[in-house]
This record gives sequence, structure tokens and C-alpha cells, in this order.
Amino acid sequence: MNDRDAAAAQGLLLKNALVLDYFPVALDAAPRPRVVRTDLRLRGERIVERGADLVPGPGEDVRDLRGVTVLPGNVNAHAHLYAAMLAGMPLAGRRLESFADILTEIWWPLDRSLDTEAVGLSAAAGAWDAVRCGTTLLFDHHASLACVDGALDLVEQGLETIGLRGCLSYEVTDRGGKGQRDVTLQENERYLQKLSDRPDHGVARYRGLVGGHASFTLEDRTLELLEGLCSRYGVGLHAHLGEGATDREVSRDRGWKDPLARLDSYGLVRRGSLFAHGVDLSPLDMQLLEEKGAWLIHCGRSNMNNGVGRAPVDRFPQRCGIGTDGLDDNMWGELRTTYFRGHEGGRGPLSHADAARFWLGNYALAREVFGEPFGSLDAGAPADLIVLHNFQKTPLSEDTWLSHLLTDFHPWDIQEVWVGGRRVYRSGDEPPIDPAAVQASAARVWRSMGLDG
Ligand SMILES: [Zn+2]
Repeated sequence: MNDRDAAAAQGLLLKNALVLDYFPVALDAAPRPRVVRTDLRLRGERIVERGADLVPGPGEDVRDLRGVTVLPGNVNAHAHLYAAMLAGMPLAGRRLESFADILTEIWWPLDRSLDTEAVGLSAAAGAWDAVRCGTTLLFDHHASLACVDGALDLVEQGLETIGLRGCLSYEVTDRGGKGQRDVTLQENERYLQKLSDRPDHGVARYRGLVGGHASFTLEDRTLELLEGLCSRYGVGLHAHLGEGATDREVSRDRGWKDPLARLDSYGLVRRGSLFAHGVDLSPLDMQLLEEKGAWLIHCGRSNMNNGVGRAPVDRFPQRCGIGTDGLDDNMWGELRTTYFRGHEGGRGPLSHADAARFWLGNYALAREVFGEPFGSLDAGAPADLIVLHNFQKTPLSEDTWLSHLLTDFHPWDIQEVWVGGRRVYRSGDEPPIDPAAVQASAARVWRSMGLDG
């Protein structure tokens, strides 16, 4: 990428930052949002020192931030980078009546149309959108049936082009029959094996989970195979769950248990599993998720767009977070929608504590999966951070941090984004990808989807 700075061996000293962070550096620590005017010393991938009036070392670069706000990079707990090419797509000539219509006329044709080139370019283009929203780590859920073998490497390369971190998985499905199911299982296994063979040095950039589409497109035997992969690699399942009534209705038509109970009967509701949506879950389902320690990720804007209903966010388990489900990677916008929607519909407002829980949950999830203290900007934490522009129009403090997330911070406030001690974005940067190549690839994808591009 052009003009990418790094905290080289001599280090970089950021003076006079107004630092907001969410967690202490100890991995098992509970969240504790803090706002402190302080200096930060970066060396290599990490923050190595934090404190007032740090003295520059020999050869160290020094920048005076003059009170500019610095905060941890944002985390997206459920993303579909492959959907980047749906942005701006020709709108359907007819009204899509149901979630099933949306799946069969948009998402599944998209899955079938993404070729090798489109997978890599959509990942890079999606990651470019993400970094401009301050998102530095994504839990991506990938599908591209015209390019399965090696697809997760292409997603990784797309993230690498921009410099972001990712936890990747391929959505296994039985929609295309046993042959297609087997290659999608193999792609998860191939990538997880590759990660486990990769020598560990420094802060991990990539992790993997086992991906499944949703209970309603997975046969019993496939659930067994997914569980086998999870157990073999010691990771959880990343799948959609209860995204509207379809999941449950198909289960009942097929004579299966309800989706969560069915997944649980195959051992897939476990600590480390990550389920997106939870719109159509009962209070007992929520209790089961709580007991099993699985994560439930709310995707409010996607739920609105798909007309699948309003998730009972006030009943979500403690281990919860938010994701954009392929719409974009603007986590401040997603949190805002979570909060506003929590007020809608007469169930009483979502409390401030609940809004904070959804936001902080994304960091707790990332800390657990990566084994690194994301969300902290203390000595020892990875140097993954956002530097805002130099005008904080109202005071930021430990009493107001959540209010700033809910009503103040916007992507256009971002001056710079750093990941692992490298500056990966500065406001006004050109994208490190060829827009003409992305547009040409998107046009091919749209034609293949039967859209008039
Ligand atoms: Zn999704």
C-alpha cells in the first residue's frame, strides 16, 4: 500500500493522545472503558509503553497528536466480504416478497457467480470499505460456489492487501448436493490445517472457524461432519441461526427439531461457536445459548433490509456482539441501529448497559479467538487503533464514551487507521486496488446473476 508507515525497530512515540480504550490488557480482565490523556509508544506490532511525558528514545520518531482522540480499531463480528459487489447492484425489477426470495434471487445467485478473480477483488474492495470505517478485524463468513478450493486464501489475500485481520470460514451447505457439500467442508479443513501449520510469530493476523450456512440448508450427516471438524481443530461453528422464521419452518417441515436444539443435539452449540441473527429464538433458546457459552451476533440493519423481524436484543445472552452481515463494515452505524431499534416496538428501551455489552462483546470475542488483548491500548496490546481528526466537538470522558459511539463518531472523523503497528489507512489515501478491475469483475458477476448491469 502507498505510504504505509510502520513502527520500525526504533519505534514511534505518539505524544498527547486522548486515548479511549475498552479493556485492561490482561486477557481475562472484564471490560473497563477508560479515557486518559497520555502518550503511547509503539514498537513493532505492539504498544510497548503508555504514560504521561514519555521521553523519546534514540532514533525514535515522535508525533505530537495535540489531544486528538485515539481508540481501538473496530471489530465486525459477522461479515460477508464477498458481498462487496452487491453494493450499487441493479435493483430487482419486482418486489422481493420474502426472505426466501432474497436468498434465492440475490444471495444464492451471488454465491454461484463469484469466480476466482471476483473472490479476491471483492475481499479487497470490502476490506477497503472496512478500513475507512475504522474496522480492523472481521469475522468473515464466505461463500463462492464457482471458486471453493483456495477461496479462503483469496479472502485472506484481500484482507492482506489492505492490512486487516480476519477470522475466516467457508459456509458449508447442502444446497448443491453432496459433491458440493464435500468440497466446502474440505475448504474449511484445508484452511484450518494451513493455519495450524503456520508458524506462530507475533500477533496472529488470521484465525479460522468452521463455517456452516444455516440449519435449514444442512442435512443431519453434514452436521455430524461439521462437528467432527470443530472437534478436530478445537474451534467453534460460525453459522446463521434463526434469521427469521424460515429456519424453524423448514425444520418443522423436515421433521427436525427446532434449529438451535437441532444444532445442539449435534454438539455444535458450544463455547467458541458464533451464531448470527437470533431473530426467531425463544427465551429457552436464549437460555441454552447462555448455558453453552456460544456467541449470538445481532445484525440489525440486515434484519431490517431483509424484513425478517426484530431480534429480541434485550434477551440476548451475555456473550453477544454485532455484525453487518455484508451490508458494509461501519460498526458505529451498526451500533447506532442496534440502540435505536432497541427502542422500537414497545418492549422498552435497550439500556445503555446493553448497548455497551453488544459493543464490548465484539472485543471479548476477538480476544478469545485470537488470544490477544484487542480493545486495550495499554502496554502489551497490539497497536490496532484509530486516530480521529483533531476536533472533538464535545468532551470525551469515561462518563460519555458510549454516547460518543452512539451519537458522535463517524467514518468521516477518521484521520488514520493502524493495524499491528503499521498505518494501513490515512484519510484521502487512494485505494491499493484497481477500481477498473473491481468494476469489470462486478459487471461479470451481475451478468452471471442475471442482473442487468
Ligand atoms: Zn450472514
